Amino acid sequence: MGSSAETLEFQAETRQLLRLVIHSIYSNKDIFLRELISNASDALDKLRLESLTDADLAETDATDLHISLEVDPDARTLTVRDNGIGMTRDDLVDLIGTIAKSGTAGLLEKIKESKDATTAENLIGQFGVGFYSAFMVADKVTLRTRRAGTDSGTQWESDGEGTYEIQTVDGLPTGTSVTLHLKAEDSEDGIADYLSESKIRQIVKRYSDFIRWPIRMAAERTDAEGAATHEIATLNSMKALWARPRSEVTEDEYSEFYQQISHDWMPPAETIHMRAEGTFEYEALLFLPAQAPFDLFSRETKRGVQLYVKRVFIMDDCEALMPNYLRFVKGVVDAHDLSLNVSREILQHDRQIRGVRRRLVKKVLGAIKTMQSKDTERYATLWEQFGRALKEGLVEDADNAEALLELVSAASTHDPDRTTTLREYVQRMKDGQDTIYYLTGESRATVENSPHMEAFAAKGYEVLILTDPIDEVWVDQVPAFDGHRLQSIAKGQVDLDESDDGEKATDADKAQREQDFAALLPWLTTTLSDHVKQVRLSSRLTTSAACIVGDAHDVTPTLEKMYRAMGQQIPPVKRILELNPTHPLIAVLRTAHDTKADDPALAEIAELIYGSALLAEGGDLPDPARFTRLLTDRLTSTL
Ligand code: ADP
Ligand code: MG
Repeated sequence: MGSSAETLEFQAETRQLLRLVIHSIYSNKDIFLRELISNASDALDKLRLESLTDADLAETDATDLHISLEVDPDARTLTVRDNGIGMTRDDLVDLIGTIAKSGTAGLLEKIKESKDATTAENLIGQFGVGFYSAFMVADKVTLRTRRAGTDSGTQWESDGEGTYEIQTVDGLPTGTSVTLHLKAEDSEDGIADYLSESKIRQIVKRYSDFIRWPIRMAAERTDAEGAATHEIATLNSMKALWARPRSEVTEDEYSEFYQQISHDWMPPAETIHMRAEGTFEYEALLFLPAQAPFDLFSRETKRGVQLYVKRVFIMDDCEALMPNYLRFVKGVVDAHDLSLNVSREILQHDRQIRGVRRRLVKKVLGAIKTMQSKDTERYATLWEQFGRALKEGLVEDADNAEALLELVSAASTHDPDRTTTLREYVQRMKDGQDTIYYLTGESRATVENSPHMEAFAAKGYEVLILTDPIDEVWVDQVPAFDGHRLQSIAKGQVDLDESDDGEKATDADKAQREQDFAALLPWLTTTLSDHVKQVRLSSRLTTSAACIVGDAHDVTPTLEKMYRAMGQQIPPVKRILELNPTHPLIAVLRTAHDTKADDPALAEIAELIYGSALLAEGGDLPDPARFTRLLTDRLTSTL
């Protein structure tokens, strides 16, 4: 068969695309190798598939299927070779010389109109540039190919400018070789030295490690005597565990894989392996670590899920697949029907990907729920490590608030040594109680000893002790758990009297009290108006003289501090001072006020009562020096 060289023009759209690809749409030029290896891998898949039904092919061609990378330093070429299905001359013209995909022309229009490279890269991510990416790093590409089961081969060659030359070549092996005549190394343009063995190894490891066919390279080695030897190395591990059925993967293999992708030295606490079939196929292999990374709460923390497309690595930190509060989940999602060039931007807006994310989140929360009911101890450890992050979900992810609330584990006055779930709390609620009570604060000790706690402790109501800064935020966002409202015992009015059997305060008692304090309360409200918006009587105190409470929607002091720490300007929040009418100090204050309302000492005592209440809940005094002076004066005058 004679050689018939022919020069053909690229289809107009292909030419435009080539120009875009070559003229730096991609900041990352290394990806050309990922594209060529992916094509080679597809070609090997196709040959294997055909050989299943074609005995001749099976015998002659489908043996030792692999990809090889060959470097020729003198010629400055890098060749990617496969012994896969290959292409006929017609295939070549159709597949490489044209862009058959529909909608390409319109897309190209948009790309041309786009002002910046990022937009262009995002648009181009909607379809593959694949083979053409070779022209980012090569000024000439020679492709030789022979279709399995045919006799003659074809050579295709182009400088990527406007035309390509095609001719018949005899004696080619089956499969395809793509030879890149490399451009000079140019660090400014992101073109590395692609003749370098270590650079090639590095790129293969990063993008093509899990390709199912061996990627081999002939490496030069110098032996002990100084002579050059030739060694064939396989560069990729090929171990894409996620692509194997669950039943065929051992615990040890999962562990090893997890440790490889997470750089954790401990095995994972939980492994989630799933496969979705149908219109959008993907496999996911996710892990819950046993231990939180030190930087879980730093702003720069990345998400732990990597995206692959048919075993080709696409990106780390895939935020489209996992919400921020589940950033500790590590693993891999391999989606079959995406372009290798898919961008973060496109993923964010893709309906299918949003569906995948919803499903993954459900799976992860489901796995944690199962752990909670089956293995309390392991769950407790998990919560200790990641509870704070999960609680962020109560703020971020309203759709899963129910599921997340079931997972919440909190300290409680019920048992000093054990945490409780909200479900357990509800099961212990007293007859007639329909509210879940909690108190937030900086530490368990401050919360437990806070005056707000007194009546609840005395009357046997359980109170959740919430001491994470994030607790301040989520309790405000979550309206209820299982129909029970969550209420801070430091907010709003509390009336525990009704459900108490012993010393039931009658309406008449209450009316009498209000009358007794009718003069004192307005006077105190005016006197302390720099600090509080109201002074009133309390039913939540038994031993303390006073406490400070907020209205139901007031910002708590801890939250106020958090906002300020984040640099947010918020007006000072004034709360309410509540007095214990049965406390001796309050009783004498009332009598003193009734008899000598204009004694200046009374105002100072009022300030001391307010300051003490602030200290008792773990708060900061507005003017500690003044407080100390007032207290010292008072003590001195009593001695
Ligand atoms: P894609 O891989 O997304 O289809 P490419 O530009 O990478 O786009 O490749 C275009 C087509 O060229 C492939 O679909 C395939 O049919 C053919 N092709 C490319 N490389 C090879 C190869 N090594 N062996 C066989 N066919 C190939
Ligand atoms: Mg491709």
